[in-house]
Amino acid sequence: MASLEIQQVTKRFGSLGILKDINLTIDDGEFLVLVGPSGCGKSTLLNIIAGLEPLTSGVISIDGRSVEQLEPKERDIAMVFQSYALYPSMTVARNMAFPLMMRGLSKSEQAAKVSEVADLLQISHLLERKPQQLSGGQRQRVAMGRALVRDPKVFLFDEPLSNLDAKLRVDMRTEIKRLHQRVRKTTVYVTHDQVEAMTMATRIAVMKDGVVQQFGTPAQIYERPANTFVATFMGSPA
Ligand code: ADP
Ligand code: MG
Repeated sequence: MASLEIQQVTKRFGSLGILKDINLTIDDGEFLVLVGPSGCGKSTLLNIIAGLEPLTSGVISIDGRSVEQLEPKERDIAMVFQSYALYPSMTVARNMAFPLMMRGLSKSEQAAKVSEVADLLQISHLLERKPQQLSGGQRQRVAMGRALVRDPKVFLFDEPLSNLDAKLRVDMRTEIKRLHQRVRKTTVYVTHDQVEAMTMATRIAVMKDGVVQQFGTPAQIYERPANTFVATFMGSPA
């Protein structure tokens, strides 16, 4: 379990200001959704949290420790992207065990953890298949499984459902929420989809042009939008 604090974070690419004074506090076990139009800086912020991209100024801390001071393996963050990036030649079981193998766990430890997580994600019957024998939704579950086996403190999702068709997207929303209710991992979930944000979040940060326009519960955002952008983008009553 972990809390995440984002304080006065800015990011510039050359002379371009991409993130401007971002301040967010994400509580232990919370499901925060970062929502905003394409290009507003969502992935950049997520990549900074994951330690994949340096920040220009500000501090990000996990349980009160600045991520810059943590070794990569101490950060304990797992990220799921929209591209599933599974190893095509490996079975589902081996794909999921891969991060554990890299950590030096024994074969039996790997198998026990893979089996536990596969059970949680209801993919136990798929363990001997190869990725190309899976549907889009099943692949996405395997990708989540591969992230979960490591027991990360923080779970990051970058538009994980945007490659799926509409029906599957709705099913996977429910799946991911159900999973969160069971594991209660601190989660930051990025989407440009307002309905996803409204239905999945404990709190929502609405972004535009690198600025958080409003940070609040779905009810607060819906009933008391901070400005016309939030009202229009989130479909709140004017
Ligand atoms: P989002 O995920 O909300 O669609 P991004 O975080 O991907 O937005 O991008 C935010 C802005 O930063 C965009 O204008 C994008 O073109 C720019 N950007 C992203 N990565 C780089 C980079 N490596 N170099 C320069 N500009 C970048
Ligand atoms: Mg993005």
